[in-house]
Amino acid sequence: MQLEFLGAAETVSGSCFLLRFGTYQVLIDCGMFHGPKELRERNYGGFPFNPLEIDAVILTHAHIDHSGLLPKLVKHGYPGPIYATEATADLCTIMLPDSAYIQEAEVERKNRKLARQGQPLLEPIYKREDADQTLKQFRPMIYDEVVPILPGLEICMRDAGHILGAAIVEVWVEEDGSRIKIVFSGDIGNLDQPIVQDPTFLQDADYVIVESTYGTRYHEDRENRSARLAEVVRDTMARGGNLLIPAFALGRTQDLLHELRRLMDAGEIPPLKVYVDSPLATSATEIFRKHRSFFDYETRIMLEEGRSPFEFAGLHYTQSVEESKRLNSITGGAVIISASGMCDAGRIKHHLKHNLWRREAAVLLIGYQAEGTLGRQLQDGAKLVRIHGEQVVVRAKIHTITGFSAHGDKTALMRWLGEFDSVKRVFVVHGDKDAVHGFAQEIEESLGLPVTVPKLDEVFELTANAVERLGVAGLSEAHVDPEFSGVVKVWEGGDQIFSGAYGLADRRFGVSNTPDTRFAMGPGSSFFTVTAAASALNQSGYTLAVPLAEIMGEGMPDWALSMTAAELLEEAPKRNDALELLGALVEKLTGEEFIKYTESKIFAPAGMEKTGYFRLDRLPEGTATGYMLIDEQLIENVFAVPIQGGPAGGAYTTAADLHRFWQALLAGRIIPDDMLCDVLKPFAGEALNGLTSYTMQGQAPGITMISTIVPALEQEVTILSNGEKGAWDLYNDLMAFLEKR
Ligand SMILES: [Zn+2]
Ligand SMILES: [Zn+2]
Repeated sequence: MQLEFLGAAETVSGSCFLLRFGTYQVLIDCGMFHGPKELRERNYGGFPFNPLEIDAVILTHAHIDHSGLLPKLVKHGYPGPIYATEATADLCTIMLPDSAYIQEAEVERKNRKLARQGQPLLEPIYKREDADQTLKQFRPMIYDEVVPILPGLEICMRDAGHILGAAIVEVWVEEDGSRIKIVFSGDIGNLDQPIVQDPTFLQDADYVIVESTYGTRYHEDRENRSARLAEVVRDTMARGGNLLIPAFALGRTQDLLHELRRLMDAGEIPPLKVYVDSPLATSATEIFRKHRSFFDYETRIMLEEGRSPFEFAGLHYTQSVEESKRLNSITGGAVIISASGMCDAGRIKHHLKHNLWRREAAVLLIGYQAEGTLGRQLQDGAKLVRIHGEQVVVRAKIHTITGFSAHGDKTALMRWLGEFDSVKRVFVVHGDKDAVHGFAQEIEESLGLPVTVPKLDEVFELTANAVERLGVAGLSEAHVDPEFSGVVKVWEGGDQIFSGAYGLADRRFGVSNTPDTRFAMGPGSSFFTVTAAASALNQSGYTLAVPLAEIMGEGMPDWALSMTAAELLEEAPKRNDALELLGALVEKLTGEEFIKYTESKIFAPAGMEKTGYFRLDRLPEGTATGYMLIDEQLIENVFAVPIQGGPAGGAYTTAADLHRFWQALLAGRIIPDDMLCDVLKPFAGEALNGLTSYTMQGQAPGITMISTIVPALEQEVTILSNGEKGAWDLYNDLMAFLEKR
């Protein structure tokens, strides 16, 4: 079973994990990336997998960093079920259309500008109709029920205590006779958080994937934070200003209302005018009311006593833009709760523009403020900020209370992890770089559990006994040239120990390379020609010692007249005319077209389903376009995809298929053992440790392919690139790394 970390790796957003087992592929979350541009760019273009090949999606909760790219997944063809709790499914009915609206509005704004400049227009990541279609694919789950969702896969959702409906997901995978349990924490709630229950504690798991948003920090405890909230409210009201509270529409807003109501009822703050200025928060609050059975005891009692946190005198929900604008004329005495929580979008920006410059106003930051956001600038004490292209001076008081986070802090996360009896490995995700590494260290030191911090796009092989990093040490990011574009796979002793896909398969359409991308092999396919000739000779009852003239008769070029088949095989990889002659030999012996023969007698028996030859009118799906570097510019090389393949070149393949080829060839399944030595001879070399290696390689404009096998150690390195940079350096590093193992 393989687990691929496609998001929330050394960052908080974009949660997305791909689990492959047997013939199935399952996604856990499909979240949107926020923050720095390089991350947000991943929201555009294709997915690093084929959405049509995904069999099921499991969604932990409704926050956009976990659910936000589901409509894109559906837009790109995912037809299957999305498993989530009923409350999550309900919350998504407002979150996903809202997100689509944001995408559309943003692109519309950009397109107005582009249209004026006569530039090509942009497409939104997805539209309202994609979100609507996504909602139809939800399959509601209830907490604590084990449900089989695919052959060999059972899941169970447990209350994560994070926001309404949020789940920790237990996953059991049955593979090769063993049963492996993985727990995905999703986002883990705070202990003693308002409204929702405490997170569920679990005891057993083979592997745990745990979030770490606050893995290195401590929240103020609830009493403390209530006292501080009361203080901030009293202070701001006494000074006659407005109190702005940027808050996530979902979860945080409702928590805050709960606390304000409690404080008012206890007489700790005066009766307030509270405006919830976020249509999303208003709709989300509606859904909270519907799912009151998930509330904690305290909140249920409040409701029973008629003290609803969601409706009280002085509490107003604003819907329309006009209503929202009217709030701008309120100069003091109001509490305005508005999204987004990090001040980087939404109505809160208008309120900040109208209040930040006022000395009597105050801003209360209660959520996590990611690097690069306006909220973070305010938190860090910026004196001047830019809002909607305007400079705004900051005179308002800026307060931060961390205890309101819907995420558990270090104490809560350690307690949650500490409940597990034995875990083979913990993967730490969903945190800033400092948080993931700091928290990982803490787990190692305090709990003594083996920990890994996966990098973005890293793949791991999980077995019943051990985990193998398919991106083993020695192949850290530093070794991969940032301009390298292609696929790398490394096998040892029959196991794939590394797999990586880098760069773009198609730059014009922004399609990423994936482990399954097909690459042109250029001259590298001469290996197939030699193999096919040997196979044809064997099939016709000849040995390699046969003089060529005996088979070909008249019409042979002079240089080949006195050669044996074995001699021609050895000569072939060095010259195109020799390869062409081998092709003619195959056709003469078998009466079949060279390409057809090779496909049916070499590729098919080896199980190389994604390998073949380019033909005039057919470009196979998922083939990378070759890019040449000319004067430091990448130029698309249309000739990297040849018009017609044949004995001299023009095959395409995938890294996995080349592995199958080596396996089949060395096991004697393609040609008999006694021929193997002669076939391999022209490709033989020496690995660094002096052992014999065999290499097929192809280099042409926009193509670099290298595949080496060291049979004695069952080591194999395959690099397929649709560019010209970095492939050989990477290859040399990998070979050196393997030699040291
Ligand atoms: Zn969340
Ligand atoms: Zn999250």
